[in-house]
Amino acid sequence: MQFIDTHIHLQDFKLNCATDIIKEARQNGVAGMVCVSSFPEDWMRVADMAGAFPDYVIPAFGLHPWYLDRAEPGWEVLLETYLQRFPQALLGECGLDRLKNPSYERQAEIFSCQAGLAAKYGRPLIIHAVRVDAWLENFWAELPPKFVFHSFTGSRELLNKIINRGGYVGFNYSILRSRHKENVLKFVPAERMLLETDGPYQGPLRGSEVTSSALPELVRQIADIRGGIPELLAGQIYQNSLEFMKIGK
Ligand SMILES: [Zn+2]
Repeated sequence: MQFIDTHIHLQDFKLNCATDIIKEARQNGVAGMVCVSSFPEDWMRVADMAGAFPDYVIPAFGLHPWYLDRAEPGWEVLLETYLQRFPQALLGECGLDRLKNPSYERQAEIFSCQAGLAAKYGRPLIIHAVRVDAWLENFWAELPPKFVFHSFTGSRELLNKIINRGGYVGFNYSILRSRHKENVLKFVPAERMLLETDGPYQGPLRGSEVTSSALPELVRQIADIRGGIPELLAGQIYQNSLEFMKIGK
């Protein structure tokens, strides 16, 4: 089986170094990974990762809704310079999180700005969305042609809206802990699925770091719930990942 880890924070691991993670990932069929960043200092670290492993690590640059305070005025200009410097880069992660921050205005403005940049530069958008189904109604029309709702554990209603607008849904181990697990995993079309670990954060065991090497087991468990063959599902999702990461309008 072949995989792309479409969402990992390679710069955030405490226990393993990136070289070891990548070596082990390759041995487990992982052909590449999208290394995601969350605020300006983090962009620098992810740029270093992409520079160190140019044929393996695809960078993503974005301002995460948890870290809005780490961005100084002009952050969006700086973000554009990263997009220009890395023509293969995705935009993210960014989004809306009502659990962490109930106030709408600033989150909305910053998310909107990044959706606009994704459209301007023809980049796929990586979206973090937590308990914001109502807020999202204001944004569907602004989303670029390619977007993913990463770490999806939402409702079937939200899933429907994403699918209808041509979006992708990214799954990591957190879906296996969700009460929506069966309802979502049995219903989502294989063509819209992406796999990720959100490493080091969303492993099978809470509190222990997860690396991309956990993807084969994740696809086995998802295929089991869907009642399908892991190899077939992994093959389809690998194709989806390549399609998703293609740059251009
Ligand atoms: Zn993440």
